[in-house]
Amino acid sequence: MKNPGGRPSLALKLLIGSILVVGMIGLIGVKQVKSGARLYRQAQVMLDTLVEMTVASQNEQEAHTAMAAAYEEIGRIEALLSKYRNDSQISKINQHAGEEAIVRVDREIVEIVQRSLQYADLTGGVFDITIGPVVDLWGIGTDHEHVPENAELQHVLSSVGYKNIEIQGETGIRLREPQMALDLGGIAKGYSIDRAIEVLRRHKITSALVNAGGDIRCIGTKPDGSPWRVGIQHPRKSSIIGVVPLQDAAVATSGDYERFFMRNNTRFHHIFTPSTGMPVSECQSVTITTKTAEMADVFATAVFVMGPERGLTFIEASPEVEGMIIRADGTMLTSSGFSYQPVNSMHSAF
Ligand code: ADP
Ligand code: MG
Repeated sequence: MKNPGGRPSLALKLLIGSILVVGMIGLIGVKQVKSGARLYRQAQVMLDTLVEMTVASQNEQEAHTAMAAAYEEIGRIEALLSKYRNDSQISKINQHAGEEAIVRVDREIVEIVQRSLQYADLTGGVFDITIGPVVDLWGIGTDHEHVPENAELQHVLSSVGYKNIEIQGETGIRLREPQMALDLGGIAKGYSIDRAIEVLRRHKITSALVNAGGDIRCIGTKPDGSPWRVGIQHPRKSSIIGVVPLQDAAVATSGDYERFFMRNNTRFHHIFTPSTGMPVSECQSVTITTKTAEMADVFATAVFVMGPERGLTFIEASPEVEGMIIRADGTMLTSSGFSYQPVNSMHSAF
């Protein structure tokens, strides 16, 4: 969803991240459990990350057919939402920004934008899909990444603001300002995971896990009846800080450690405060667990922007949302119902 020409080390980071998570899932594809189901696994680079699926089934062919359909669904969504593809519907909206005419798109696009507007309202405007011009200006992870001049920043900020998105009917949309640009990078991964889970369900899968670069949702439990176990990445080390048990639920993490560059000992990364256009520096990472991957994805980004204290208050006030916040100084805050097993000295298994 983001820059296709990211750093060369991205693939390596993805691999390491995947080993961390996979390491916690167990002996995939090898273990036959009581129910007679086996775990089958596939991985593909999509959504600018590694998307792994684990499916329990008694039939290998059925498992792979279900996964193929789920990957196809993710591919379909990526083609609709990516702003880096000139022919995507999001690009079409962006290309016509500021024009009088309403742009016609699929109902699915209007629906995801509408939900994004609700998330904006719910989060006091810190989650804002019109962040596009700010993301483009900083160019984090691209060959033009730089710290912008204040004047440049002020210039692009004048075109950020979700209230300037106009929706007409079920398929009409328009951006009121000419420099506006939608960027669904904070929601697309979560939405894609939810759609993939839906496709697996339609294929009668009752035990599965979809992991897109650390944003995860599962169906049911592992075939042996125990919860899926997901390792949460340490924001500053190649190890995990804890394991989250997951059953029919989702988890997502937003961090400052995956897409960033350093200048004068300062870290500049890819999550921005919409009002200032600056990367947020109060957290190293935010992990959210809730029912859907979309909400986990959005709220992880939003709480990251809110910062630890306001973020924790937001989590506590949100039903069925729990979370863990690692502050800039490395100290941790968890919400009252956040369930995880800390791993103090454990290093990853590679
Ligand atoms: P990742 O995609 O690396 O897991 P996030 O889920 O936190 O990280 O999403 C970060 C992406 O969200 C950015 O790359 C950008 O596209 C978008 N974004 C950045 N800041 C905001 C914001 N304040 N509101 C909405 N989207 C944002
Ligand atoms: Mg996210």
